[in-house]
Amino acid sequence: MSLPPIKRVLLKLSGEVLMGSQPFGIDTDFVAQMAEELKSAKETGLELCLVIGGGNIFRGMAGAAKGMDRAQADYMGMLATIMNSLAMQSALEKIGVETRVQSAIQMDEVCEPVIRRRAERHLQKGRVVIFAAGVGAPYFTTDSGAALRAAEMKCDALLKGTSVDGVYDDDPKKNANAKRYDMVDFDTVLADNLKVMDASAVALCRDNAIPIVVFSIRERGNLARVLAGQGTQTIVQK
Ligand code: UDP
Repeated sequence: MSLPPIKRVLLKLSGEVLMGSQPFGIDTDFVAQMAEELKSAKETGLELCLVIGGGNIFRGMAGAAKGMDRAQADYMGMLATIMNSLAMQSALEKIGVETRVQSAIQMDEVCEPVIRRRAERHLQKGRVVIFAAGVGAPYFTTDSGAALRAAEMKCDALLKGTSVDGVYDDDPKKNANAKRYDMVDFDTVLADNLKVMDASAVALCRDNAIPIVVFSIRERGNLARVLAGQGTQTIVQK
């Protein structure tokens, strides 16, 4: 089984990806490199939605573990995703890729609110749409935000670009014999608690028949390879 043709895609980047080789925050050189890859992908005619996590700056769980109110900490995490989204918008527009940020937390001075029909127009006009602030509610993550926007925008696939090259049956950093799946179905991911995305995000993709492709975004050129159906990846589908 392989993927159906991809005309519109949602790419989820974890915040950690934006750190590049730094221990924290935003590596602007790496973000610029990513922007070039996104530009090349768009030049093939792809309609591109983006969701960027916030883990390079702040995660609600980490704040809660240190005694913060969980919901309050989650809102801080959502604000981190807006910062990352603005950084990516800046890098994309610097190389001539028109981009709009739509945030689930309204912030009129810096970006648009999420308006699905407006996002649709942006995509039709060839703009990249970055959906920030996840689903706009605490106790969720940007994985759920990515699945939600992929469903709303009727994306053909959700690409999850991370620092590992797919889904394994065990942690490949701890177990040298861990096996990477080429393909795995949604129910196995949920039943075996495989590390793909949150269970709520996986269930939303399953229920809306949106395949998830997990791949390493750190290797240069990998996004283009994955979109061409090549390279190393795991495809999660029915
Ligand atoms: N967050 C949230 N609701 C959302 C999306 C994100 O509360 O809908 C918060 C949550 O605290 C999360 C943080 O924002 O830890 C950063 O997002 P995430 O952990 O998904 O980022 P990633 O791991 O992808 O970098």
